[in-house]
Amino acid sequence: MADVLAANIQTILGINADISIITEKPGYAFVPGRGQFDAGKILRHLASVKSEVPLRLGVTAYDLCTPILTFVYGESELGGTCAVISINRIRHNTPEITYLRAVKIGLHEVGHLFGIGHCWEPGCLMQYSHNLEKLDALNIDFCSACRYEINRRKLTLMKSACP
Ligand SMILES: [Zn+2]
Ligand SMILES: [Zn+2]
Repeated sequence: MADVLAANIQTILGINADISIITEKPGYAFVPGRGQFDAGKILRHLASVKSEVPLRLGVTAYDLCTPILTFVYGESELGGTCAVISINRIRHNTPEITYLRAVKIGLHEVGHLFGIGHCWEPGCLMQYSHNLEKLDALNIDFCSACRYEINRRKLTLMKSACP
């Protein structure tokens, strides 16, 4: 899973992301009564671990939620450095479909890390998907407007990384 995500992020966005598979139960983020895990707490936990890589993506099998949403496929801090996705609700009998869904969510969250908000363009990865039908209908690419913004911000990111 980590390899597939890293390879797709590299191919589609041309950047390296540090993918960490969260296997240990994130007890610090457990939400009693809901049996789920607070995505924001996991993000803060990821951000507290020092890393050389500017973008980090955590992957977990535990079900994620936020105080407002009953569940989330993924969560990220707009313009931040860390994102987290869950494969809990996207599993399919065909592993390739599970991977494809994870890649789409991962790319969407990385898009948010680039400061890109939700997009209304049909098929664009930055569309907000609240169910699998919507998620499956997305292309594995950004629309031209989102891609333009991503490239523009990527340049700024690379410039600021230079001494
Ligand atoms: Zn989003
Ligand atoms: Zn778009």
